[in-house]
This record gives sequence, C-alpha cells and structure tokens, in this order.
Amino acid sequence: MQPAACDHNRTQIIARRNGIDYVECLDCRQVFEAEDLEPVKADEEDE
Ligand SMILES: [Zn+2]
Repeated sequence: MQPAACDHNRTQIIARRNGIDYVECLDCRQVFEAEDLEPVKADEEDE
C-alpha cells in the first residue's frame, strides 16, 4: 500500500504520444501525463 499523498518526485517517461509525455512515478507507480506533473503555482508563497 502506498501513502495517500505522493509528491511524485521521481518519475520516468514511459511513452510519448501526440506531443504528450506520459510519465510513471517510481515511488507509487502511477502513470499520468507529464503536464499534470507541473506543480501548480499559487499566488501565495509559503516561504
Ligand atoms: Zn508518486
């Protein structure tokens, strides 16, 4: 069982289709589009 929240810090590209890179998280083994990986930049800063 993997933790509910994974930062997906370690990923590898497993496929590329229609200009979209598909990556797999080495930690939780989840596959998703590379675009989804991009961190959402909020206007507020934590630090
Ligand atoms: Zn992950």
